[in-house]
Amino acid sequence: MILPPATLGMLGGGQLGRFFVSAAHELGYQVWVLDPDRNSPAGQIAERHFCVDYGDYAALDEFAAGCAAVTTEFENVPAATLDYLAKFVPVRPHAAAVAVCQHRVSEKSFLRDNGFPHGPFIAVDSENDLKTAPNELFPAILKVARFGYDGKGQATVNNRDEALAAFAHFNGEQCVLEQRLTLDYEVSVVLARDLQGKVACFPTGENQHTRGILDVSIVPARTTGCLTSDAEDIAARIAEKLGYVGTMGVEFFVSRGRLIVNEMAPRPHNSGHYTLDACVTDQFEQQVRALCGLPLGEARAHSASVMVNLLGDLWYENGKPGDTYREPDWSVLHAIPNLKLHLYGKHHARPGRKMGHFTVIGDNAEAVQKTALAARAAIG
Ligand code: ADP
Ligand code: MG
Repeated sequence: MILPPATLGMLGGGQLGRFFVSAAHELGYQVWVLDPDRNSPAGQIAERHFCVDYGDYAALDEFAAGCAAVTTEFENVPAATLDYLAKFVPVRPHAAAVAVCQHRVSEKSFLRDNGFPHGPFIAVDSENDLKTAPNELFPAILKVARFGYDGKGQATVNNRDEALAAFAHFNGEQCVLEQRLTLDYEVSVVLARDLQGKVACFPTGENQHTRGILDVSIVPARTTGCLTSDAEDIAARIAEKLGYVGTMGVEFFVSRGRLIVNEMAPRPHNSGHYTLDACVTDQFEQQVRALCGLPLGEARAHSASVMVNLLGDLWYENGKPGDTYREPDWSVLHAIPNLKLHLYGKHHARPGRKMGHFTVIGDNAEAVQKTALAARAAIG
């Protein structure tokens, strides 16, 4: 077990890293953050911020020498960086598990090869793959295999010609072509798996997206039957199969009543932010515990909750870039006593950028949903 006052290493300095730093501090650890952004939200509050690229091996040497264990908050840290650090210090999750999740072709192939429910897809390496793609895949979504997030690097394509045009637009980068599914709704499971292989799933949440970006998470999910426990079971089996250690998120589609795995995130997940305010242990404390070889905390939710993301659009008077830039009027949120506001300390708001979130908690799920929707309308 790694115990305080040990120093923990975090690769990536966004809001997920920032919450990790807070959780680690709370438990008595120190944290070094490595992220190339000078103003990174996690770097601001860590003991040390290595403001360098992930491929700066001299910096990685110093980082590894000072950390008792290293984890990540960002799935696009090069697997080679994780592999390199693992020669000197425990890295959890391990590079191979992260590598599966950071590439859409390996992710989908992993699901297929291990019998997990997934949607029809093909890997696209060349125009020819699109020319010979089965007709049943259309209408489809073309997604770049690497570095996509929040709906970026995706094109909705109705037919083969549109797919070819989109592929050219992505400069012929490797892609996956996925059948566009009819979604009843979307859910996700955030879980933690410890060094001994014990898994603790947080309750399944229901997620609503706007323009490809998570907008609202509702927990418990408003589903029927055993769907939520099935989702937790599938997510736990994925973590086991990956030999995963740490916190991870698994996104699902519910399509015509069936659960389909959409993607995995090898890190805490935006849809797990509700755990900060509604669960006995939150997803970031679980990440610290798993990293340090401690037993996991209880993942039970003590309250119903609705989490709402606060995007940079809110900083513009009428929600449009070019309008007057000003701080939103937070007093309308502070006036709601069962609402917890979290702002990430980002220096500049851009449309679509995740700047913060709030979570409304309470005993009555319907009342919580009403309050959250009213709060969202009030803030803009
Ligand atoms: P990201 O990495 O940007 O989160 P996702 O693959 O999760 O990418 O896609 C973002 C959102 O787009 C999903 O949450 C879903 O709402 C929609 N979407 C993605 N793939 C499909 C699909 N095959 N069929 C229908 N909707 C999809
Ligand atoms: Mg997603």
